Amino acid sequence: MLIRRATLLDGAMVDIRVGDRIEEVGQDLAARRGEGVLDAGGGTVLPGLHDHHVHLRSAAAALDSLSVGPPGVRTKEQLVQALSNADPGPDGWIRAVGYHESVAGDLDRSSLDALVTNSPVRIQHRSGALWMLNSAALGRVGLPDHPDGRLRSSDRGWSEVLRRRETNLAELSRRITATGVTGVTDATPDLDADDLVSLMVAHRRGEFRPRVRLLSPGKIILQDDRLDLDALTTWITDHHSVGQPVAVHCVTAAQLVVTIAALRTAGSHPLDRIEHAAVVPDDTLTDLAELGLTVVTQPNFVAERGDQYLAEVAAHEHGQLWRVASLLNAHVPVAFSTDMPFGAGDPWAAMRAAVHRTTPIGKILNGGECVSARTALTMFLGWSDRPGRARTVEIGEPGDLCVLTEPPAAALAELDVGMVAATIIGGELVYFAM
Ligand SMILES: [Zn+2]
Repeated sequence: MLIRRATLLDGAMVDIRVGDRIEEVGQDLAARRGEGVLDAGGGTVLPGLHDHHVHLRSAAAALDSLSVGPPGVRTKEQLVQALSNADPGPDGWIRAVGYHESVAGDLDRSSLDALVTNSPVRIQHRSGALWMLNSAALGRVGLPDHPDGRLRSSDRGWSEVLRRRETNLAELSRRITATGVTGVTDATPDLDADDLVSLMVAHRRGEFRPRVRLLSPGKIILQDDRLDLDALTTWITDHHSVGQPVAVHCVTAAQLVVTIAALRTAGSHPLDRIEHAAVVPDDTLTDLAELGLTVVTQPNFVAERGDQYLAEVAAHEHGQLWRVASLLNAHVPVAFSTDMPFGAGDPWAAMRAAVHRTTPIGKILNGGECVSARTALTMFLGWSDRPGRARTVEIGEPGDLCVLTEPPAAALAELDVGMVAATIIGGELVYFAM
């Protein structure tokens, strides 16, 4: 297809012919017979955004799940109301996500039984790591005698038993492409063969349009209470020995420090990644740079949860939270992502958070880590396998583009998802704002 009157980020106005790759960039390109033409009207044309850390199956499931955490649900009364108004899904279950103990404390089977007796209910903690089930639900998964109904998501023993509801990948695809995203990296650590097959089939059938990259099996999640340096070093060495980079999930300082120690021993691969890097102490910045690690982080959590961090994290550690500018200054490659559905899946909101670092009630978290709008945007333009290196709108680059209604200066000032006019993947128009 041909895109006319497109403004590139450097300000040049051009026409762009795009197929599987960008074929031509020039002035006054003539449309070929039968070729689709999109008039960008001077709006910015960018490489399609890539969200470098998402969880697709959970995101699709979350579309028809109840949300029971902040900001929508903040009190026990609101939780009770949300659950009592909930309609069970086609499988008879009530499925709720996003829970945080600030709402009504740690939930277990007896506290849930007091809220919902008749329907099986499962509530996911907003970290994604834990599910809380009532007695009816425990009976359905074959654990009627389970002591507290608090089950780890990573425990396949029970989660296999749940017949997963067919999730709506087509609707998720529509929502993702409407944000200008043309590719995603699924960071779920233990995707099984069924997940992979259903995702690939959906992609091939055209139900799920964005390009998909999978981190699994080179992805590991660490738990603070089970940090084992030797085991992690062996795991990394094993992956590297077959040429596979690793992606290590680090949300605490302890996890980051142990990961750095393991990589010092095992050696690093040029494509190794640190996921989240929620807490980065000063003295780890040099290590991250020396090891050549790419940090894939989520500034949107500053905008979504910043007030909770300010209240719960010791003041002298605030400077270590969700850093961006100091990583870049230390020459650590950085890329952004949303962690959808655990973070809101709007990359533009994540960019604004990186620029302003404003919490929900309007405080600033860690203002020294703010970056420019241009830098924030670039963090979503990386290659799927080299997140820290940005793609460009040039001949030979992938035919994945995001067309905005605004020229660059206004687009960078706004960074709003409402500016996305069209999304193109492999030369095909997959989203067009009406
Ligand atoms: Zn994640």
